[in-house]
Amino acid sequence: MLDGVSSNFSKIYTSDCNNCDAICCIALDLVATDYKKPKNILCHYLKTEKRKCAIYKKRAEHGFSCCIQFECYGAGQAVTKLFHKLYGRKSTSTKIGNLKNDILVATLLTLGDKLELKYKNKIAVNSNILNALRPFLDAAITLIEERQ
Ligand code: SF4
Ligand code: SF4
Repeated sequence: MLDGVSSNFSKIYTSDCNNCDAICCIALDLVATDYKKPKNILCHYLKTEKRKCAIYKKRAEHGFSCCIQFECYGAGQAVTKLFHKLYGRKSTSTKIGNLKNDILVATLLTLGDKLELKYKNKIAVNSNILNALRPFLDAAITLIEERQ
């Protein structure tokens, strides 16, 4: 259960990685024992054709506590669904990919404020573009909450 959040909320605000384009494996900066990557770069363990992690069950051995502990609270599958509706499933545009990554982070920040999530100070999106992202992240939050 989320810190300070009811069990009903935790059913709504939970990740569904099987229905996500693995956005966190691209959007976030990661630091592991022998690997690190900046944000907006594909993790080199992500198999792009199926968007599956090649070391999923061995991430602890590789020191990937960063992604083991990460929880997007439903933002990943909502942003994925939104972008599939807007741009289709097969879009490979870097511009659209970066937009998707920014909207994931902006959605997490919005959820962070709403649910008082513990990681909210560890991620950031350029404040100059937040207003431009607002319609997308409002739509993503609506998609998450439609699961109620
Ligand atoms: S963004 Fe969320 S749903 Fe998508 S892979 Fe990451 S944790 Fe799973
Ligand atoms: S190690 Fe696997 S789960 Fe972690 S960021 Fe890379 S591809 Fe994603």
